[in-house]
Amino acid sequence: YSIEKCPKSIDLSHHLSDVGNARQVSPLKGLFKYIKTPGIISMAGGVPDPAYFPFETLYADTLIKDSFRPGPAESQSPLSWFWNLFRGSEKVQTDRITIPKYTANPEDPNLAVALQYGTATGLVPLQKFIQEFVTKVYQPAYSDFTTIVHVGNTDGWSRAVMTLCNPGDGILTEEWTYPSACAGARPLGMHVVSVKIDDEGMSSEDLEQILSTWDEEARGMKRPHVMYTVPCGQNPTGSNMGSKRKTEIYNLCVKYDIIIVEDDPYYFMQEGEYTPKHLRLASGKAKAMSAQNTENEFLKGLVPSYLRMDYQGRVIRLDTFSKTIAPGSRLGWFTCNPLFAERFERQGETTTQAPSGFSQVLVTQLLTQQWGYSGYIRWLKGLQYQYTLRRDTILDYFAEEFNVSQEPGSELWNGHVVHVCYAKSTRAPFMKEKSALKPLISYVPPRAGMFIWLKVHLDSITKYTSLDEDDETTEKKIWVALAERGLLISPGWIFAANTEEEALSNEGHFRISFSNVEAEVMKKAVGILSSVLHEFSA
Ligand code: PMP
Ligand code: PLP
Repeated sequence: YSIEKCPKSIDLSHHLSDVGNARQVSPLKGLFKYIKTPGIISMAGGVPDPAYFPFETLYADTLIKDSFRPGPAESQSPLSWFWNLFRGSEKVQTDRITIPKYTANPEDPNLAVALQYGTATGLVPLQKFIQEFVTKVYQPAYSDFTTIVHVGNTDGWSRAVMTLCNPGDGILTEEWTYPSACAGARPLGMHVVSVKIDDEGMSSEDLEQILSTWDEEARGMKRPHVMYTVPCGQNPTGSNMGSKRKTEIYNLCVKYDIIIVEDDPYYFMQEGEYTPKHLRLASGKAKAMSAQNTENEFLKGLVPSYLRMDYQGRVIRLDTFSKTIAPGSRLGWFTCNPLFAERFERQGETTTQAPSGFSQVLVTQLLTQQWGYSGYIRWLKGLQYQYTLRRDTILDYFAEEFNVSQEPGSELWNGHVVHVCYAKSTRAPFMKEKSALKPLISYVPPRAGMFIWLKVHLDSITKYTSLDEDDETTEKKIWVALAERGLLISPGWIFAANTEEEALSNEGHFRISFSNVEAEVMKKAVGILSSVLHEFSA
């Protein structure tokens, strides 16, 4: 990869919304031109004297970069799959961070700068780190890509909508999607246009179909010029898009002149194929060896970002520290063409100004002084294995609670292998008699992220019939029954991009997160799910 060999971004200014276009350069900008002049007496800003900041020094104890192992230990016994804590018995080891108010080198993280008014582009060392990270990890296919901080991907998406869309515009997205993305755009007058998905996420065929047959009059809006997509560990379906599909979709977006907003919080949680427990234990040693792989091998093992295909600058990638450091850090960044970046900067100046100085300085110190680029990559590798262990563990419990059979295809997953769960009582040789059996639930084992998307086969639910008086859907009834038994998961309807279509359908889906409970709790949860479903289909 050589950035110098990449072309420059093309002019995409016709995508800016009226609001996006109208933002003025801040009148204060002229002042900032002189602020760095050595010896200048600056009395221009309404800036408090740092002497009055009550914080003299910030201390933090932070985990070391290799706190979590990057893969199975070579000596791992089969029993260690049942660790209480996923991280095993390793002790928490920390390093002390100290951030003083003043530093000899004003470029080093310090509170006098971090807690002062700053620019919407963020702290300088953080900007540098992010730029290096994007260059090395994502390797954008155009040379003048620009990075700029935001306050998490929720903020990033909200700024993108306002900068690109006028009321009445359509936004293309997966048929099941992150609810806040739609909830943020709809009140501004945008319409969500849903595109079908399969186990790789958004379908390029359906996208082409929608775009090539777009009828402005029938649809009541112009052909959409913005797409919102979650390509890795898609929320809620857990699908992971490979590079072939990404290239197909990117090429369609070139053909139909569409800006892709890639919201990608789960990029480093690419867990790979699920291997059932007995096979996994047998291959444990090989896995342990491959866990020793280098930084570069780890990065190569990840599906490339849309940035890698983007030779025009039509991708706005949203990165967040929410899933890799902590959601409360409220910190992330855009990678996009310089024109859009300048508009986001103007927008930042009049909304958040900049992410919180406390947050920026702590994350900057951790990334640049404690861990460094390689250390952060090592940290991400550890996280990837943690989520892989959790994914494996919960799917193992499904195999204990149900008769799971791997079957090709279904109307939901367009011909991909699904894990279909039959009632536990269907004894061997159930494989042979399967055609006579009704499955309870099915899912495609997720290859990234923190979610399992369950399809409930409602024709096997006998407890309720359409003759029931109340007009609650069966999905809702099952969801309530689960909650009353002590298991809260997300009902499918909240993720529907097309709310009208969803209201008419009587499909059942649930999203289960495997990200934050211990193994025994997971076991209990799958137990509750199983007993409720077994009861409802008895
Ligand atoms: N409003 C007024 C009238 C101000 O003078 C200032 C700071 N100079 C601000 C808003 C900005 O406030 P904040 O730092 O809380 O965004
Ligand atoms: N986008 C997606 C697809 C998510 O799943 C989430 C978190 O649940 C977010 C954005 C929120 O990100 P942030 O905390 O960076 O605002």
